[in-house]
Amino acid sequence: PTLDTLTSELDRAHVFHSWSAQGSLAPLVIAGGAGTRVWDHSGRTYLDFSSQLVNVNIGHQHPAVVAGIVAQAELLTTIAPSTANFTRGQAAERIAGLAPDGFEKVFFTNGGADANENAIRMARLVTGRDKVISRYRSYHGNTGAAIVATGDWRRIPNEFARGHVHVFGPYLYRSEFWATTPEEESARALHHLERVIQAEGPSTVAAILLESIPGTAGVMVPPPGYLAGVREICDRYDIVLILDEVMAGFGRTGRWFAFEDFDVRPDLITFAKGVNSGYVPLGGVIISDAIASQFDERVFPGGLTYSGHPLATAAAVATIDAMKAEGIVENARRIGEDSIAPRLAELAEKHAAIGEVRGTGVFWAMELVADRATREPLPAATMGAIKKELLARGLLPFVQDNRIHVVPPCIVTDDEVAEAFAAYDEVLTLVS
Ligand code: PLP
Repeated sequence: PTLDTLTSELDRAHVFHSWSAQGSLAPLVIAGGAGTRVWDHSGRTYLDFSSQLVNVNIGHQHPAVVAGIVAQAELLTTIAPSTANFTRGQAAERIAGLAPDGFEKVFFTNGGADANENAIRMARLVTGRDKVISRYRSYHGNTGAAIVATGDWRRIPNEFARGHVHVFGPYLYRSEFWATTPEEESARALHHLERVIQAEGPSTVAAILLESIPGTAGVMVPPPGYLAGVREICDRYDIVLILDEVMAGFGRTGRWFAFEDFDVRPDLITFAKGVNSGYVPLGGVIISDAIASQFDERVFPGGLTYSGHPLATAAAVATIDAMKAEGIVENARRIGEDSIAPRLAELAEKHAAIGEVRGTGVFWAMELVADRATREPLPAATMGAIKKELLARGLLPFVQDNRIHVVPPCIVTDDEVAEAFAAYDEVLTLVS
């Protein structure tokens, strides 16, 4: 048997996969990667327009990040979170330095879910309140409070944490508010949010937790005034605003943080994924000084064995330095504007199956429909066929519900975008 066959056999015999019935899985074998490409053991390569789970922002096997991890491994691979460690301190300084003024401290976690978990805990502790309002059509992670804050199907079988309330957010293409303009959608979504807070009792609401741009749910870029309006509502009722930048942060939108484009100041920022492109698991909470100082005398009742792990924080330091030195965030912005946006517009012009395209930077979604007038989503079987045909053309896509998310690493080039769009075009021709 080939190494690819052996890998598949081992996987099917012993690996229990996320979010799946185990019986009929056939995971793609990936053995290596570099930049925007990954390959199997027999040398079959794929252009990665998924960035895996939208996390490999710097691309695969960036030499400076690999070198940073190796150097740290030779120095000290692990140390307790209660110690002071130079690499951890440097990572925290760099991450806080990317946030607005008034954010100096970082609490490190293992990933995005526990970042949200701890941000929610901080909000509850400083407000003395319980409820957390988040959005339908969101994903915040797969742990106690984070999964119940989530606004998609994954919440429902896991609904054991209390104190979670959901609202609809702005999504003009499928408006819950009968809106026809972005301004109407924004104003009505804000009215709905405020009415839910009033009905729940403002003095019971600890936090509003929102993805700055909902990612997995469909890359819904907020309409003008929405996030600024949420900030005003938080101020009116003394509610903590937590912005989840796990997917949208660290270059994905062509900014260090997606919220930078929306005139809003959060109280807590959660991050993971792009902070070190997942080379070693890492997440965390960037804490505003006003909240951090509340724990100067009072104990913060939370911690993790691997909080600020040396290998993970070394990867973050190297990632942030390389992204700055190589203009990788700027590349994401330029590619989005000059290369992805015009090609998506062209594709939407040509294929009736494209109902809407939306996004920014290297964070886009094409929403596919069976009928442009009714906006009925393309059925799951067709989406499955699209995924298969894209893979057959050497493109690793991110397909979610009735959407193709165009989410390459931030280092993607114009030529690679052209290559991917040739595949999208061919495959959409088959289905439209
Ligand atoms: N928040 C957002 C916006 C995410 O997209 C994700 C993961 O996809 C998470 C939180 C959870 O992160 P993790 O899987 O690292 O726990």
